[in-house]
Parts: sequence; C-alpha cells; structure tokens
Amino acid sequence: MTARILEGKVFAAQIKEEAARGVESIKKEFGITPSLAVIIVGENPASQVYVRNKHKTCEELGIRSEVVTMPENTTKEELIAEIDELNLDKSINGILVQLPLPAAIKAHEEEILNRIDPLKDVDGFHPYNVGKLVTGSPTLVPCTPAGCIKMLDFAGIEIDGKRAVIIGRSNIVGKPMLHLLMSRHATVTVCHSHTHNLAEVTREADILVAAMGKPKFVTADMVKPGSVIVDVGINRNAPKKLVGDVDFDNVKDIASAITPVPGGVGLLTVAMLMQNVVKAARLQLQ
Ligand code: NDP
Repeated sequence: MTARILEGKVFAAQIKEEAARGVESIKKEFGITPSLAVIIVGENPASQVYVRNKHKTCEELGIRSEVVTMPENTTKEELIAEIDELNLDKSINGILVQLPLPAAIKAHEEEILNRIDPLKDVDGFHPYNVGKLVTGSPTLVPCTPAGCIKMLDFAGIEIDGKRAVIIGRSNIVGKPMLHLLMSRHATVTVCHSHTHNLAEVTREADILVAAMGKPKFVTADMVKPGSVIVDVGINRNAPKKLVGDVDFDNVKDIASAITPVPGGVGLLTVAMLMQNVVKAARLQLQ
C-alpha cells in the first residue's frame, strides 16, 4: 500500500478560503476590516521570514496587517508597554509576539505573552484560552494543532472513536492536540520522553501525531498498517534540508495517509493564524 500524501498546500488553501470568507462577512456585517499586529523584537533572520510570510498572507486575504519592529535591546517593560497599547487599540483584533525573544528578555517570555488581551491572543497561548480549551469552550486555539484538525476534516478522515496517539506534550503542540482530539471523541494517549515501550503504544494508533523534534524517529515498525500519520516535526538535517519526525520514505508504504515534511503541516500554521484573527475579531464584536 502507498499512503495518500496529505499535501499541506491543498489544505492550507482551503483553510485560507474559509478565513477569507470570514473576513468578508465581518466587513459586511460590522463594516470593519479584521487586523493583526505582529511584534518582532531584534533581527533573527528566521523570525523576519516568518513575519513577512504572515504579513503577506494577511494581505492576500484582506486582513489588515501591522508589523511592529522593536530593537534587539528592547527591555521587558518597553515590550509590555507596546502590548498594552495594542490591547487598548480598538482597531487591532489580533496580537502576536514573534518568538524566540532575544536572550536578554527570553526569561520573561511567559509574563510578556500573558500580557496580551486573551480576546486578541491569536496564538492561543494565554492561560485563559488554555483553560477554555481544556473545558471544551470555543476559544482561540494554538494554530498548528488547530490546523492539523482542520486538515483531517478537509481530508475526510474520521476522528470520532479512533485511537489517537500523540508523541510530545509541549504547550504549543502536544497538549492542545490532546484536547482537540479528545473534544472530537478520539481516545487519546500522549507520549513523551519518559514513556516506556513507545513503539508498543504508537502501534495502537489509528491517528499518530509526531511532535517531538527528532529527525525520522518514527520508523515503519512503530506504525499500525493503514493508520493516518501527522508529522508536525521540523528538523534541519543539513543547512537547507528539512525533515520531519517520521521516516517518511518507509512509513508511507504502511500508512493510509501521511503528511510530508516539508510541504505538510508547516503550511497549515499561518493559514490557521488567519482564521484565528477572524475568530478574535468576532469574539470582540459579540
Ligand atoms: P518541544 O521540544 O517543546 O517538545 C518535544 C516533546 O517531544 C516533549 O514533550 C518531549 O518529551 C517529547 N520527546 C522528545 N524526545 C522524545 C522521545 N525520544 N520519545 C518520546 N517523546 C519525546 O517541541 P515542540 O512541541 O515545540 O515542537 C515539536 C516539533 O514540532 C519540532 O520539530 C518543532 O520544530 C515542530 N513544530 C512545527 C510547527 C509547524 O508549524 N509545523 C509548529 C511548532 C512546532 P518531554 O516532555 O518528556 O521532554
């Protein structure tokens, strides 16, 4: 069997189309243009690429985008003051602080991110939004796991009643994925670096989500025949070569569907961010 390849660009386009429809309906109903402010501190080249990409995608979908560039030596207080200003600005619906922060203020990351108004927290990292996700209330959810669920839906892959296994328990991928899959009635197991007999657990999965950051770690013998493999991992193998957490070449012969790296889940994140901006605007207008 060769698996169906779940191409990120196909699903990202569908997610963006949905977001663009959301933008249009907000414009019609309320006469406002949803807007996103992205704060970038310092000159990390990768962050600059990500921010440009977000800005471009906003423009493509008719979302107003503002990039706030702050110097490398910005203090915690200055950054918080900027966030406070954007929190009060009624013309801004979404606020995102591009990570990583420069070394000098990195230790204050949690305090800084928690300063964002939960209704404008388009990354879905604020404890208020995390709490709502855990209790099953509609809220702003971290973009990568939310994008994966959208992809499964668009691909017509059933979640209800399935055994799902997630490798990784981070706050931005593994944990929100647990709650999203559970709320869709999957039976979910979360694995991490202390899990014993990992392969035994992963072989039970109808849906296997790999989010560990270990190149090609998930091998064919760890996968149940016919399962769906969602590879969230992005690892730089060589200067310009990206690989996922899954040994794609071998696993694709066993799985029924699999996301490639690059060209898979990575493309869903920015698309989903656009949906979160629309959702944030709606939450603020209610
Ligand atoms: P973290 O480093 O925060 O978390 C990694 C998780 O994997 C931890 O829970 C860790 O366990 C677990 N883990 C590590 N090694 C093993 C092992 N040998 N066996 C079982 N579990 C293990 O990573 P993130 O969640 O932030 O990211 C995961 C991957 O996804 C990375 O490659 C990242 O680049 C990528 N990513 C991709 C995105 C996208 O847009 N596609 C967005 C975000 C991330 P423990 O908790 O015990 O340490």
